[in-house]
Parts: sequence; structure tokens; C-alpha cells
Amino acid sequence: MSIQQENRFQAIISHAKEYGFVFPSSEIYDGLSAVYDYGPYGSELKKNIRDYWWKSMTQMHENIVGIDAAIFMHPTTWKASGHVDNFSDPMIDNKDSKKRYRVDHLLEAHAEKLREIGEEKEADELLQIMDALLAKEDYAGLKKLIDDNKIACGISGTANWTDIRQFNLMFKTEFGAVASDNPDDNIVYLRPETAQGIFVNFLNVQKTARLKIPFGIAQVGKAFRNEIVARQFIFRMREFEQMEMQFFIRPGTQKEWYEYWKEERLKWHLSLGIPREKYQFHNHSKLAHYADAALDIEYQFPIGFKEVEGIHSRTDFDLGNHQKYSGKKLTYFDNEINQHYVPYVIETSIGLDRMFLLILSHSYDEETILKEDGSKDSRVVLRIPEKIAPIKLAVLPLVKKDGLPEIARSIVSDCRPYFKCFYEEKDAIGRRYRRQDAIGTPFCVTVDHQTKEDGTVTLRYRDTMQQERIHQDEIKNKLQHLLLF
Ligand code: ATP
Repeated sequence: MSIQQENRFQAIISHAKEYGFVFPSSEIYDGLSAVYDYGPYGSELKKNIRDYWWKSMTQMHENIVGIDAAIFMHPTTWKASGHVDNFSDPMIDNKDSKKRYRVDHLLEAHAEKLREIGEEKEADELLQIMDALLAKEDYAGLKKLIDDNKIACGISGTANWTDIRQFNLMFKTEFGAVASDNPDDNIVYLRPETAQGIFVNFLNVQKTARLKIPFGIAQVGKAFRNEIVARQFIFRMREFEQMEMQFFIRPGTQKEWYEYWKEERLKWHLSLGIPREKYQFHNHSKLAHYADAALDIEYQFPIGFKEVEGIHSRTDFDLGNHQKYSGKKLTYFDNEINQHYVPYVIETSIGLDRMFLLILSHSYDEETILKEDGSKDSRVVLRIPEKIAPIKLAVLPLVKKDGLPEIARSIVSDCRPYFKCFYEEKDAIGRRYRRQDAIGTPFCVTVDHQTKEDGTVTLRYRDTMQQERIHQDEIKNKLQHLLLF
């Protein structure tokens, strides 16, 4: 990461805290690593992203329904899903600093350094070799790659590494208060993905919502992973939220549906007004234990192109295994072809917190403004897509007297049922505009003395700072139109 990008990333983190978007968890106790809380504007923004996704899935597609499954699941779920045996990352420890690294992260960071000194070809080669070794799970080969490249620990500066080992990422806890001779009897896991709640409910949902294949089940909820390398703010957290959709299809049609969802999900991102060149697809060479094809939708964060969403062709792996472990039939009768089968699944899985970081990264702008008298001014503005901005409209009486607050309050009452409004009368109008810019409010309405004469107000646009006069009765309709899904 260049110094400029590093600074931008740090500026976003500070801004998020200063303006009530994201706080470190339990900060008065110095925080808890890789756990964060969302503040007043953050929780609004997060909810708006969640709602935008939910609506696009369950309202805009007639064959997708939602569920809300519990975080705790029967422990056998995670045996069947493969997470008990396979949900682990290869790790390596530096013997001097005792710091543990994910092997792929260590090598990727080295490739990044090579790029910074112009050695693009070497960096590409290194990553290609790494991908091939990861795909073969050749840990001795990966260790040799780290040794051959003389990769050193960022803290101790030495290349004194342990062997590579697997580390399971699931959190365990105890369930109930019943003592048992076998401690394993009481173990439950905090779910590391929301998908399994969908799989185990597959038939309940299909039957009660009377769905025919192809159909989807969507869910938003918390997931937990004991990430080893937990840094980079809300990019990688130990407690986070996923928005997942499992699309159940006829076996043999997975390629076309995989392509469909790849394009459909990219369209969703672009519908927020984020430029196409900020995205790239990354096809997986090492497939997860459940997949026959997988790709990441990557976004150009200030920390580089990184995954924000995964599209996975999960075959019949999950339903097949749940059928095996539970002894319950999980087949579907397809009356068009007169056959019973275990459906195949295409999954779209996006991290809500990562999408939040994407929106902040896209929106954060330090702008220099050239004023009419030739002097310069600056502002920090969050260009959050209007539809998901925490506050849509700020209503500001120019002064705190002469009946202007009353008019402003009546505008708020009129608009409040339709979109989130904010009323403020303190400080000079310029300062109030800047505060709204900093939290990403797309529209401000100012009530002044002319309003009393002809009922018009000033509507100010966040991005261009342009202003126009409109009648106060037009505000609600105009904004509703601009904010339309
Ligand atoms: P990574 O390679 O970054 O660890 P992953 O491939 O394990 O991610 P998936 O299992 O495909 O991730 O999860 C789907 C989505 O959930 C990811 O695209 C990401 O947006 C989000 N996600 C996964 N792990 C985390 C985490 N620790 N913190 C925040 N979001 C996460």
C-alpha cells in the first residue's frame, strides 16, 4: 500500500469514528481486537445497505424468499458442512516475534512489495506458484517458497519460521448447564456462515412458500470467525454480518446460473453508482471443499483490490451431506422432468461490513473548493449513494427566529414519514452544510425570510453544492423521486 493510500485509509477510519459511523468495541477498555460497534450514522447506513440488498433479492425477484435462522445450530450441522474438518487456514508463526500469519497473506504482502519496486513479473509469478501450491495443499512447498524468497516477519525482522499448520476458525462455546462425562456433548459453535441455516431449512421453506425450482432463499445475519490476522479495520472482523442467498437449481444447469448470478450481482453494485473500473472478478484456483466453481467480486479499496463478495457453485454438497448426516430426505420432485433429485446450489455471499467499508471508501472525498473571490476552501464530503445515505434531508432555518424554525419544523413533519430527515438550527449555515457533507446527507433545505413571502426554500445538493429555489410543497415529491430504488 502506498503512503498516500495508507493515509487515505487512516483518514477514513478517523472520519468514521469522529462522525459516529464506527467505534472500536468496548473502547473504554481499550477495545477488543477486530470487533467494532456502529454509531448513530453507521447503524443507519448499515441498515440501509442491508435493506437495499434485501429488497433487491426478495422484492425484485419473485422466486426469492427470506428467512431469519438462529445463530446456534445443531453441532452436527458443522460436521456435515465440512467446517469441523476443513474450515481452517494454513498459518505460520515467526519464532522470534511469536506473531502468527496466514500463509497466503504473508506471500501476498511480499508480492505487493515486489510490485512497489517495479518487479511486476516476479510478483505475478510468486502468486501463481502460491496458488498452485495452495490448491495442492502442499505446505512443505509453501514453506520453501517463503524461505526461498527470504520473507521476514514485519515485527522481528527475522525469517525464523515454524512449519505451516492448519488453524480452525470456528468459535466454540458450551450449551446448557447439563454436566456430561463427555465435554464434547455440550459444544455448540457460533456459525461461521449464515448459509447452513438456509440449507437445513430448505424443505420447510420450499413447502411452506410453495416454491418451484429454480428458487432462492436469502438471509442476513451475524457470522463469527476466529480470524488470525485481524486488522484492516472492518475489512476483517471476528464478528460480522453476511448477506447470503442460496439459489436452488436443477443439476446440470449450474454453469448458466453461475454466470447469471455473477452478472446480476455486479449489476447490483453498479446500481449504486459505483464505477465499473473499481471492480474486478477473481476466479479461484483453490476451490473450497464444497465448490465446483468460485469467484470473488473484488473492489479497489484503499488497501488494494480485495474481495467484497463471493459467488460459489456449491453443487449438491451441502444438501447431500445434510441428508447423509441427518438421515432425512432432502430431495425435490421436479414435475417438469418427473424426477426426484437433490438440487444444486449457486450462492451469492457478501459481507455487510465489507460493503459498508466499500461505501465509505467510495464516498470519502477531501475536496478543495475554489471560491468566487479566487480564494480556496476545503471540505470533507461523503458522497454516499443517495438511496442509502443515513440522512436524506437536513432542514435548516437560516436564523433561530422570525418564525423560520416553525416553517422548517413543518417541512420535517411533512417529509419524515417518507425518508429520514434532520433538523438543525445551531451555528452559521455554512458550518451546518459542512457537517451534513461530512455525514453524507445528499440534500439540505434552507428556510429563509423569502420563504415567508412566497413559500420557496433553497435546495442544496451535496455533491455539486449547487442550489436552487423550489416551493416547499415540492420538496417531498422531488426527493422521493430522486431517492427511488
Ligand atoms: P477472505 O478470503 O477475505 O477470508 P472468504 O473467502 O473466507 O473471505 P467467504 O467465506 O466467501 O469469505 O464469505 C463471504 C463474504 O463474507 C466475503 O466476501 C466477505 O465480504 C465476508 N467476510 C468473510 N469473512 C469476513 C470477516 N472476517 N470480516 C468481515 N467480512 C467477512
